[in-house]
Amino acid sequence: MMYTEQQKKVSERLSITDSKTQWQDWRWQLQHSIKNIEMFEEVSGITLKEEDRKKFEQTVEKFPMNITPYYLSLIDFTNWTYDPVFMQSVPSYQELSTSKYEMNDPLAEDKDSPVPYLTHRYPDRVLVHVSNTCSMYCRHCTRKRKVGDRDSIPSLSELSKAIDYIKSNTNIRDVLLSGGDPLMLPDDYLDALLDKIHSIPHVEIIRIGTRMPVVLPYRITDNLVELLKKYAPLFINTHFNHPQEITRSSKAALKKLADAGIPLGNQTVLLAGVNDCPKIIKRLNHLLLMNRVRPYYIYQCDLSEGLGHFRTPVGKGIEIMESLIGHTSGLAVPTYVIDAPGGGGKIPVMPNYLISWSTNKVILRNYEGVITTYKEPDSYEPNFCNRDCENCDRQLNIEEGIEHETVGIEKLMCNVDTTIALTPAGTERMNRRK
Ligand SMILES: *Cc1c(COP(=O)(O)O)cnc(C)c1O
Repeated sequence: MMYTEQQKKVSERLSITDSKTQWQDWRWQLQHSIKNIEMFEEVSGITLKEEDRKKFEQTVEKFPMNITPYYLSLIDFTNWTYDPVFMQSVPSYQELSTSKYEMNDPLAEDKDSPVPYLTHRYPDRVLVHVSNTCSMYCRHCTRKRKVGDRDSIPSLSELSKAIDYIKSNTNIRDVLLSGGDPLMLPDDYLDALLDKIHSIPHVEIIRIGTRMPVVLPYRITDNLVELLKKYAPLFINTHFNHPQEITRSSKAALKKLADAGIPLGNQTVLLAGVNDCPKIIKRLNHLLLMNRVRPYYIYQCDLSEGLGHFRTPVGKGIEIMESLIGHTSGLAVPTYVIDAPGGGGKIPVMPNYLISWSTNKVILRNYEGVITTYKEPDSYEPNFCNRDCENCDRQLNIEEGIEHETVGIEKLMCNVDTTIALTPAGTERMNRRK
């Protein structure tokens, strides 16, 4: 049933006997991943020109290829040049031309890593890289520097420093498993790892970032789902970029997860030639919602080496947001973010809706171009906050761990902090002051 004509063709070319049952076996898919040009041509029936072959080989040498037979089968083999699945999975020579703005580690993840395999960027949550490998190597991977480096999964003892770090930092309430793809871990291992993290008292939620529902939906087995269910509240964020990726198989995988009560989100990357179109993003987001997946983020493409040809101007993202907000369900509107080069974290970017402001009115515009006013209250008793939460008449049961420190812009807004400016340290002007 969940088997298209083209999938039959791909599996026949991979010459297997009982193709149907094996096709849906995720381990079979991994064992038959397409890693070189000969296999790619054989299985897809696509023949590259001699000069393109050379370029292809040069590219694969620097940035390896790995495509699951399933994901490959989503390519339109008769019209593949601008096929969104082809573009995301098949190497392009353009990956080798880099500009001086591109960086090896644009998000400075390695610098914000206090212990191996862990990135701690925000006050209350950390990212753990639990796998160094993926079932499909996205051509637009932000961690392209690491792809195929060491296709390995760190052992529990290698991850022990990361786990101890979480244990000893009681302000970490949210742990994100990332990678690579965390669902590359065998079930037993994943179970043991989740159990360790789940049992840390101050960890309130766990999140898994995985592209398996998109590139290898058969990984979402009943056994896996049963295992994940035990660690609620556990959230899964996946990575669909184009409506063509929503197939019968991926829908079945999402249904299993949603039926198990696992909240699902999606992180899309804005990619030139793939999904830089308001209609494609809107359609994608509607399809996601129909499959109980909430669009969470849409990312501006990072400044990683070899991604230049995928980058769009920020204006394209703003245009897409403009075409979503108000025009469609708020549930179909993700937050558009730029992950700050140098490691500042995700910065949301939006069209402007607040167009002017006086002492008692704000002037706003809506998605249709209506300009309206919102009259502010004549009397408002400001809630003077001196951060003395214990003696405040706003009701919040104080538990341990409530922070009294203010950070960033919040610090400037705070009534009790006397800071009037946030100034970068180490500039010439600042050095002159000393
Ligand atoms: C994206 C990210 C997070 C999670 O950010 P949210 O906005 O909470 O989804 C945490 N740590 C790092 C390093 C990240 O890149």
